[in-house]
Order: sequence, then C-alpha cells, then structure tokens
Amino acid sequence: MNFKKNDLVEVTIEDCGVNGEGIGKVDGYTLFVKGAIMGDVVNARITKPTKNYAYARVENIITESKDRVAATCPVASSCGGCQIQEMSYKAQLEFKRNKVFNNITRIGGITDFKIHDTIGMDNPFRYRNKSQYPVGLDKNGEIVMGFYAGRTHSIIPCDDCVIGDEINKDILNIVKSFMKENNITPYDETTGKGLVRHVLIRKGFKTGEIMVCLVINGKNLPNKEKLVESLLKITGMTSISININTENTNVILGQRVIDLYGEGYITDYIGLVKFHISPLSFYQVNPIQTHILYGKALEYAALTGKEIVWDLYCGVGTISLFLAKLAGKVYGVEIIPEAIADAKNNAKINNIGNAEFFVGKAEEVLPDFYAREQEKGNHMTADVIVVDPPRKGCDEKLLWTIIKMQPKRVVYVSCDSATLARDLKFLCGNEYRVVEVQPVDMFPHGVHVECVVLMSKVQK
Ligand code: SAH
Repeated sequence: MNFKKNDLVEVTIEDCGVNGEGIGKVDGYTLFVKGAIMGDVVNARITKPTKNYAYARVENIITESKDRVAATCPVASSCGGCQIQEMSYKAQLEFKRNKVFNNITRIGGITDFKIHDTIGMDNPFRYRNKSQYPVGLDKNGEIVMGFYAGRTHSIIPCDDCVIGDEINKDILNIVKSFMKENNITPYDETTGKGLVRHVLIRKGFKTGEIMVCLVINGKNLPNKEKLVESLLKITGMTSISININTENTNVILGQRVIDLYGEGYITDYIGLVKFHISPLSFYQVNPIQTHILYGKALEYAALTGKEIVWDLYCGVGTISLFLAKLAGKVYGVEIIPEAIADAKNNAKINNIGNAEFFVGKAEEVLPDFYAREQEKGNHMTADVIVVDPPRKGCDEKLLWTIIKMQPKRVVYVSCDSATLARDLKFLCGNEYRVVEVQPVDMFPHGVHVECVVLMSKVQK
C-alpha cells in the first residue's frame, strides 16, 4: 500500500527506531512515527512517503501504551537529547535488552548464550558529568543558553537539563550576568560575529571538582577576572578556562585552551583509578554506569595477576588501567595521539607501571606485532583481549589476528549491537563461543545501548 503526504493512518507501534521514533506496519508498509512509543495505537499523519516506507508524526493517540509516562523535562520533545523519555524506565531497560538479544540472534545467528537484564540506574536523571550549552540571542535580543532545536541551529532556552547536574543552572546564570554587565556578545553563526559560542561544564562526581570553559570566537575575553571572581563563588570550582575557536564550523571546541584559573584539569575517579580531565580530553559522560560497565569487563576478564591483556580502542586508557591493577601486563591501542598522551599520564598518576600504550589503528598495530613476532619464530599470544570499538565495530583484519592469537577470553564492549552481532558471528565461526551478555544502560532516556560480552575459546 502506498500513502501520500498528509494521509492519516491508524497504526500500532511495535518497535523503536534509531532516533527513538515509533515503528509500525500497515499492510506490510513501514511507518516511522515521531512522538509514538512501543505499544501505542495512534493516528499518524504522513510527512514524507517513499516507495517502501514513510515518515509520519502522531496526530492523536487512540490507545496509550501501558509503558507511556509523562516526560520529566518540559522540552523533551523538541530537544534531540532524550529520545525516549516518554517510555517508562522499566520499559526502556527491557527495550535495550531485547534490542541486543534480537541483534545477536538475528544478525549473529547465535542462540546458545545467556543474556542478563539491562543494568539500569537507581536514579536515571542528573547522571551526565559533562554539558555543552550553545549561547545565542533570542528574538528580543536577550542572551539565551540551551540546546539546538531538532536539526536546526536555533537555540531553545534551557538552563536546567534534567540529565545534567543541578549546578549547571547557577553557572549559566553567572556567565549570562557577566556577559550582560560587560557587553560581551554571543557568537552569531550566520554573520560569524560575536564572541561567546559555548559554555562547557564538567564535574567530577566523586571529587566534586568543577570545570568551566568558555568557547570563544576570538583570542581574548574582556574583563575575564570578573568572570573568574564570580565563578569562584561556586563550591568545587577548580578549573576555569577559555577555548579559542574562530573557525566557521559545527565542531564545538578549538585546539587551544587558555587557563584563567587552576591547573587546566579536574580530577575524578572511576573505582579506584584516578583521571585528569581537561576541556579537550575524552571521558565517559556517565561515571556511575561506566564503573559498572568496566567492572563487568574486569569480572569477565577473570584476572589473577599474571595475565597478558590487550585493550584495543583504549581511548584514554580507562579500561586498561582498570584491568592493569589485576593483570600481569596490559597493552592499550588507540588511534588518537592525544588520548594516548592522556592514557600515559593517567597511568603515571596512578603509579601503574604495567600498562603500555600505542598510537595507531587496532587493525594495524596488533597484526604488525603478531607478524614481527612470527618472523622471530615466536607465536604471540594473550590471555585476554578486550575490544571497545566505535559504532562501526571491529575490522576483519583485527578479528583474524585475535583468532590467530587464541586468547582464552575475548571481552567485547559494544555501543552498537548490530555491528557487535556481526563481529560475534565471525568469532563464533572461528572457535569462540558467546558465554554471556550484559547490557548496561549508560544513557537513560536515550536510544543508545551499551553492553559487554564474554566470549571464550572453544576447547577442542
Ligand atoms: N575504551 C575507551 C573508549 C572507547 S570509544 C574508554 O572507555 O574510554 C572507541 C575508541 O576507539 C575511541 O577513543 C576512538 O578514538 C578509537 N578508535 C576509533 N577507530 C579506531 C581504530 N581503528 N583503531 C584504534 N582505535 C580506534
């Protein structure tokens, strides 16, 4: 059946798409319905029809899903951040487990494994330790800070995001007053004029240390000492800086940071491992769930103190350092040189001497190591290999090297269960089996699903 633009269609929502939209079928024709959640029966207005599917939005709800709840945040539907706030948290966790399960069984063709319930948060709000607020002017010429509406670049004012920290509101108010009192203008993307582009706020949840960094379109912030003075009234203020970004770009941060107060970083802990976090460094945004996720990775690695471990796609070495405390030796590989510099520094400040880091592509570094050892007549092996790739998953060349190295266990940390399933299938075809799968909810109210998988070598 084909629909035309503006047709009204009754549809039962059965699934949730990559952007949180409801998915339902009418006579085999798929509809992606904005504003609908699984279990809703709705009248949907077609917004964009194509041959095999159509986009639509909810006109009215005929029967509400039993999992439907009122969104906590007043701007949830216009902000792209939380796509599934209108789904009860229990339903979100079930949806995430099912998504991982369905991908592993359907794409991976794997059936004989254990999958646990998603580990959720006791309080699925206020969990983000990092926020970046764009700064602009509203229609009346008032300074606004908030988020970009949908795919546009107009700013919807919002100074108290419910998944961010409560302190953000006070900080934004201070910055706003400072800008007003000192006639400092927000940046205007269309003209390229104006100074303040973004306010970046980070908080160490364990230490309470706070960082504020103003991203500016220029080299200097007039009267900056006044800003510092006001911000220092906030308890925990540890680092205040400006970041210079004079490019006409969507990228938020520029490369150069000038410290106005403090040493240029805040400190935080995941478990017992300490991290220095600067405005430019990568750090997981949900530290509570990160601890749980990496705790699972550690449990699955089953270390006794002697093992040789590779941590591929290691970022700033978070997992590597977590494992190093219980391993013989950990090798980390990561493509971004700055992340490896952070990883080395993080090893140093934790007095961890048994972790070594390499810059490069995992699919080049590991196979090269293996080939060099083979030339010397050695068969290079490892006890445990951990991978935590970006969404596109692992390169086949890397998977082949893992198979050749024959580690006893492979621990796969994944942020995309479809590519995970593809990679698991490959390893399962080559003498590995999936033992168990643990989804962990790193992004409550968002559609992304993280999980950690234990694989073991099949004994012949
Ligand atoms: N394990 C890390 C981060 C994982 S995110 C942590 O917990 O902090 C995935 C990482 O893979 C990113 O840091 C990204 O820069 C890196 N990356 C992307 N492609 C890569 C490749 N081909 N080889 C190695 N690292 C890569």
